[in-house]
Amino acid sequence: MPWLDAALLGLLGLLVGSFLNVVIHRLPRMMEMRWEAECAELQRDKAQPSPEEGASESEVAVFNLMVPRSRCPHCGHQIRWYENVPVLSYLALRGRCSQCAAPISLRYPLVELVCAALFAWCGWQWGLGWESLAWAGFCAALLALTGIDWDTTLLPDDITLPLLWAGLLVAALGISQVSLVDAFWGSVGGYLSLWLVYWGFKLLTGKEGMGYGDFKLFAALGAWLGWQALIPIILLASVIGAVVGIVIKLRGQLREGGYVPFGPFLALGGLSAMLFGPQSLLSMVGLG
Ligand SMILES: [Zn+2]
Repeated sequence: MPWLDAALLGLLGLLVGSFLNVVIHRLPRMMEMRWEAECAELQRDKAQPSPEEGASESEVAVFNLMVPRSRCPHCGHQIRWYENVPVLSYLALRGRCSQCAAPISLRYPLVELVCAALFAWCGWQWGLGWESLAWAGFCAALLALTGIDWDTTLLPDDITLPLLWAGLLVAALGISQVSLVDAFWGSVGGYLSLWLVYWGFKLLTGKEGMGYGDFKLFAALGAWLGWQALIPIILLASVIGAVVGIVIKLRGQLREGGYVPFGPFLALGGLSAMLFGPQSLLSMVGLG
């Protein structure tokens, strides 16, 4: 019964989407805190040890994906469990904090709904099993990367590298239809191609067109979808990325440095390759 599988995975997708909102919000802050701690340690190694040192370590408040509980960023009101039910709470609260009535970003229920739709599609396509769960995980990772890259122009290694290894593992275990050889060359080709573009662009213009996170994400997409998907993905990502970039520029909403993150478009290309097959991506951009 494909409908039952789709409904069950869709429900799981709502919960995972709710967690992804936390990841998108907190992972960049956690990385920042890690860098700050590392920098402080380097400084301390250089300087003479001071007597007040040591106290700071224990005073650092715990901050990770589980702790502390979510709060309204406006008034600090702690979100209760029944205010945290995916989509439903947003509707029940009419998109406002129950305490101070500050608007809650529409992005929270959107991420939950998109995640649920993608998970449901996996359940409908492959039924309940390892294959659908693997692809659902692929979708969740891409959603998190999209949100984080859009907000911060960072693609955390904490997500891109496990995604790459998971793609190779899924192929090696025969869970997906992609052979290990195709997955291997997909990851190598994905990394090297963007690495070459990066250096070519840098040598010609002296600017950095993208970041190392983009190479790792493209390598991960190659591992999941095989080398055959690389060219369709990069074409679709470039076309949509260019269009969105021009629209942002025309509306004068370009960020400092004129940088439009490329990760969300790579992720969109990867998801489209999963949903429609790599070949139909070529016809989407007018080739083949
Ligand atoms: Zn509030």
